[in-house]
Amino acid sequence: MATKAIKVDLSVDEMPKKWYNILPNLPEGYPPPLDPKTLKPLSPEPLLALFAKECIMQAVSKDSEIPIPDEVLETYIRIGRPTPLQRATRLEKHLGTPAKIFFKREDVNPSGSHKPNTAIPQAYYTKKEGVEKLTTETGAGQWGSALALACALFDLDLTVYMTRSSYLTKPGRKTIMEAYGAEVFPSPSDQTECGKKMLKDDPNHPGSLGIAISEAVEAAMKDEKAKYSLGSVLDFVLTHQSIIGLESKKQMEIMDVYPDIVMGCIGGGSNYAGIAYPFMHDKLKGKKETRFIAAEPLAVPSTTKGVYQYDFGDTAELTFLAKMYSVGHTYQCPPIHAAGLRYHGKAPSLSFLINKGLMESRAYGQNEVMEAAETFAKTEGFIAAPETAHVIKAVIDVALECKKSGEEKSILFNYSGHGLLDLQVYDEYKAKMLKNFAATPEMLEAGRKSIPKIPA
Ligand SMILES: *Cc1c(COP(=O)(O)O)cnc(C)c1O
Repeated sequence: MATKAIKVDLSVDEMPKKWYNILPNLPEGYPPPLDPKTLKPLSPEPLLALFAKECIMQAVSKDSEIPIPDEVLETYIRIGRPTPLQRATRLEKHLGTPAKIFFKREDVNPSGSHKPNTAIPQAYYTKKEGVEKLTTETGAGQWGSALALACALFDLDLTVYMTRSSYLTKPGRKTIMEAYGAEVFPSPSDQTECGKKMLKDDPNHPGSLGIAISEAVEAAMKDEKAKYSLGSVLDFVLTHQSIIGLESKKQMEIMDVYPDIVMGCIGGGSNYAGIAYPFMHDKLKGKKETRFIAAEPLAVPSTTKGVYQYDFGDTAELTFLAKMYSVGHTYQCPPIHAAGLRYHGKAPSLSFLINKGLMESRAYGQNEVMEAAETFAKTEGFIAAPETAHVIKAVIDVALECKKSGEEKSILFNYSGHGLLDLQVYDEYKAKMLKNFAATPEMLEAGRKSIPKIPA
């Protein structure tokens, strides 16, 4: 087999110089974010106060191509872009499938996931506006460590609200954030009003991503020198992540293959949108009939068991309303190891595409995804993050469906991150101690009650 059929690296000169913004190409009727007080489309002003201005301008841009600033390109290169694209021939052989499986390596940067792709531009734009500090939330710490890395490189202060359960059980990423110079508080914390309220109800509150978002937003709103940064869900984040798919497209061209199926795991939806949207562009233009399949946890089944409605992005209802697939902003997420997939909603544009039938999704339990991760480790040699394990399971299923039907499909998936800081989940899987958390009808019912009723 020719070497280029196994792995394609792009040179730094071949890096895409523009991100892809899908918004102008979406089908008609993409629902705008709403102001929760007036239920009218949100004006950009409150967002301009909260986020870096350039990010909000990108979120309302009518251009499908957005230039990547030189400093951002340079920093992308410094931390490992362009990333490799590989073919998983050993996994194919193990499965006995005629399908060809390709994966894009987003694990190669110092923080180990795709998240620096948006952390870097967000830090860059914030710094350029003369703001001194960012606040953010993190679950297991992948987003926090990516933003801490970006803030170190652009000389910005950072405060991270980390869900208390992760703060206590996963100190590794806290160490990394602190090494980069970030200040990390367990959330709920005594630093904010909403944190104090939660602590009063329960001094040992385990926290949640929704609560940590509320704290980080409140902290940014109270501090004139600070802005807030979010690692997924928002349109501009998905645009930044398009670097994954744009590079992949060039690499697949060099391999002389156009993917029949593009897959990824979804927490807020950013890594999957990142790889998928440049290919979705061709489908929306009627040029290709690519299938798009997303994988989510059975424990947080936003797109498979949730509702497509306007909901808040955080627990304390400080954010605007976005129409998305959601299990409700007060949904009690079971403590699955894939903390990056524990968000109640999914990105509005991704939700819209799923609702229009242009994308599919499937849900999986912890044990089956870790079984798939182990198969991937044994065949391809990579220890995947528990989030990434979800798409690996979905890819194996689809490859086995191809085996049944004898179809030689090409499957491209995003290898969103490594699991070298998540070894506990591999241990627990081996020891048969992993729980198969799945949303029960009662949990879904309770979560759904928090979704606001918006008159049509
Ligand atoms: C955060 C994370 C995810 C999920 O986030 P998205 O915004 O849906 O991409 C997936 N994989 C890894 C490794 C992560 O760190």
